[in-house]
Amino acid sequence: MTVDTLSPQDHIALAERWGAHDSVPFPVVLAGGEGAWVSDVEGRRYLDFHGGYSAINFGHRHPALVAAAKTQLDRLTLSTRAFHNDQYAPFCRDLAELTNTEMVLPSNSGGEAIDTAVKIARKWAYQVKGVPDGAAEIIVAGANFHGRTMTIISFSTHDNHRAGFGPFTPGFKVVPFGDIDALRSAVTENTAAVLLEPIQGEAGIVVPPKGYLAEVRELCDDSNTLFIADEIQCGLARSGPTLALDEAGVRADLYTLGKSLSGGLLPLSAVIGRADVIGVITPGDHGSTFGGSPLACAVGRATVALLATGEFQERSRELGAHLHARLNELDGVTEVRGRGLWAGVQIAEERTAGRRVTELLAERGLLCKEDRGHLRVAPPLVVTLEEIDLGVDMIADVLA
Ligand SMILES: *Cc1c(COP(=O)(O)O)cnc(C)c1O
Repeated sequence: MTVDTLSPQDHIALAERWGAHDSVPFPVVLAGGEGAWVSDVEGRRYLDFHGGYSAINFGHRHPALVAAAKTQLDRLTLSTRAFHNDQYAPFCRDLAELTNTEMVLPSNSGGEAIDTAVKIARKWAYQVKGVPDGAAEIIVAGANFHGRTMTIISFSTHDNHRAGFGPFTPGFKVVPFGDIDALRSAVTENTAAVLLEPIQGEAGIVVPPKGYLAEVRELCDDSNTLFIADEIQCGLARSGPTLALDEAGVRADLYTLGKSLSGGLLPLSAVIGRADVIGVITPGDHGSTFGGSPLACAVGRATVALLATGEFQERSRELGAHLHARLNELDGVTEVRGRGLWAGVQIAEERTAGRRVTELLAERGLLCKEDRGHLRVAPPLVVTLEEIDLGVDMIADVLA
């Protein structure tokens, strides 16, 4: 049996039989994508308002990214860090220049970048801050999402992310997101870092109270604590600026990037930030076979080049204002959260009761994710004004 002859139902049944049951994918089997559109195995087209959880900021198969990948596939795909390759250093330089940071440590998944940032913060606490060995604490926010590794779920507040997986990695404290007093009370002389998403993605696209991020920065300065901003979902123009923290005029000591860093072509993540902090990593401390591969770095350089034009940041701001204005007018919507081309659309309970909003949207030709009563709207930043209107009209129709 070749893949081409399988119906959507065949694919779903095979996945059920042979794939691990780690997710319940929406029952559509995708086979193609271009720009803001995807198509399924039967050729049906859908407008993509999901955007790969923000990994598809530049649209599906952006021509510049595909070209960079194809060129590199014909040259060299892997060197490992045992040897230099001719894409790694230019990628690190270009990404640091784009983000106005000093040093780059590339890796693969977002979770790997978070794990790496945790390791760096702990080592910095022992070597630089003088925290007694084994006592370093990292403070995180409630309802956080930083990934699924064993260490990361140790500080998740989602019970289903943790259940059955203990024992957990110690050394983390959780405080409510957006509550500066709670954070202040939690900081001790053993605090290595505060780790936050400047805008919480999986929690429902939650923007913290005005002034909060600047207060976090001040608290970190006063207590000699690192501020680690997880920009894996909110960064790289998704919320408007290159880095979401830029909006608040705040700089973090370390940032984690992932998802759109490769435009959704392959896994590519990084820890970026202060050279004196990332500098605690010395040869042999840390490593990854694929981290900094020439293939990933070539695509990453092409992504950085797209962001360097400022076009996507501008699109996110301008089209985002339009998206938010339109969503705010909809009947049956109680709240629209977020920034840029990114919205958490809270739907009135009576409008969702007994209805499968995302299925009704898919019938009309729109893919979107629903979670605990809200729709997550994150179209690729290449989406046009007309396509936004088309998608919002479909949402209006389903909620009517
Ligand atoms: C997706 C995500 C991660 C984890 O990235 P993976 O590539 O899935 O490991 C971490 N932090 C945030 C904010 C994310 O949205």
